[in-house]
Amino acid sequence: MKTSNLPFHERVDVAFKDDFLQESLKKAQEKFITGKANTYKPLGDPEVWRKRAEEVRRHTIDNLDYYLDMLATNIEKRGGKVYFAKTADEASRYVTDLAQSKEVKTVVKSKSMISEEIHLNHALEKLGVDVIETDLGEYIIQLAGETPSHIIVPAIHKNKKQIAELLSKVAGRELPDDPPGLYQFARKVLREKFLQADLGISGCNFAVAETGSLLLVTNEGNGRFTTTFPETHVVMMGMERIVPRWKDLDTLITLLPRAATGQKITTYLTAISGPRRDGDVDGPEELHFVIVDNGRLNAVGSKFQEILHCIRCGACLNICPVYRHIGGHAYGSVYSGPIGAVLTPVLRGFDEWAELPYASSLCGACTDACPVRIPLHEMLVDLRNDQILEKRSPTTERIAFKMFGKMTATPRFYATGLKAGKTVLNLFAGREGVESGPGKLKNWTKERTFPSPAPQSFRDWWKSGKKNNEKK
Ligand code: SF4
Repeated sequence: MKTSNLPFHERVDVAFKDDFLQESLKKAQEKFITGKANTYKPLGDPEVWRKRAEEVRRHTIDNLDYYLDMLATNIEKRGGKVYFAKTADEASRYVTDLAQSKEVKTVVKSKSMISEEIHLNHALEKLGVDVIETDLGEYIIQLAGETPSHIIVPAIHKNKKQIAELLSKVAGRELPDDPPGLYQFARKVLREKFLQADLGISGCNFAVAETGSLLLVTNEGNGRFTTTFPETHVVMMGMERIVPRWKDLDTLITLLPRAATGQKITTYLTAISGPRRDGDVDGPEELHFVIVDNGRLNAVGSKFQEILHCIRCGACLNICPVYRHIGGHAYGSVYSGPIGAVLTPVLRGFDEWAELPYASSLCGACTDACPVRIPLHEMLVDLRNDQILEKRSPTTERIAFKMFGKMTATPRFYATGLKAGKTVLNLFAGREGVESGPGKLKNWTKERTFPSPAPQSFRDWWKSGKKNNEKK
């Protein structure tokens, strides 16, 4: 069910009722967590690696302008073209203009979150271009007309029956829900598209400044087909996805697959430096790097700068108890889980994304899981705090907290408030506790039971103890 047009709380309700989603998220998280622990073990102390990775990312983002300049110079030296796009529209326009100038009919794409972020497919499709996602998970959600529900596993919310139905529509006949048969079918369709395509669009796991190179980290061969078959290759890159030197990649590439999927290494690591040279047997005639800002520069120099250290491994999603229950679509953004709950409002502001910083238990598991040590849960608190300072919370809530503050600062009011609260809660309490609370507690008690007030409050118990001691 598509939920993108529903408000946040309704999207969450839909996710709660989806039994397959609940089961599949649980299984996937358990698999990733175990895999990560097993592949981290031989590395020795993971903190040493995480600190090293954090240093690489901090140094890079602290000197982002310097390394972007170095990257652009080196890409151009090797015959590539570079375009810096300030906004999503500028980035899309560059690619659509290019596609029009080359009379492109078919585009093949390997996985690229930034192109999801800027809605590049829609822009190309408006021109009548056939755009095909070639990562299997992305292909499935493209057929379903949905967005990814996980950074690494975009179709984690689909079962084999649903996938068979989607591919059957492409086949024009009913395909059995047998995974190997479905892979074979998708493979055959996609191979034909690679041969037809005039333009290939890839994402960018890392761009290496010192040589102007692109590094793709993939588990399917689609990345290599996308970047070598078509005459023109466009790399879509968020401007923070850069490392200074190949040497810096040692640490990041050691941690990325382990943190993401519990693999020591992915099936393919593809490095591309420039378009086809004389004597090369394959490769594109033209290579374009589109380096996208789209709000990232606003984070530079702010208290949220560290969010640009992210290497999009998905480890914070894989550990998050909230993501485990609501899945990716409930967040409404292409970036879900803790990274999405921070990155989306940082890039896009609070107007549409005010709820996301609240989609967290603040347990800190995401921060502990992050291979580059981004303090995600602290940023979530900061984002909540910013909303309070901007007076974005409902007036009733602001008044309630003001009164609560006054009450807790005055012992006499506090005691009276506690007594009143106990009397009200007792009106709603059953044998097990409060299962359907009054006012705001109603939503809270929809999913869990609020404990009944204790027969004797701590304050009364303390007072009675004191009295007894005085008598002795
Ligand atoms: S915030 Fe950290 S854990 Fe989450 S995706 Fe980014 S790098 Fe991975």
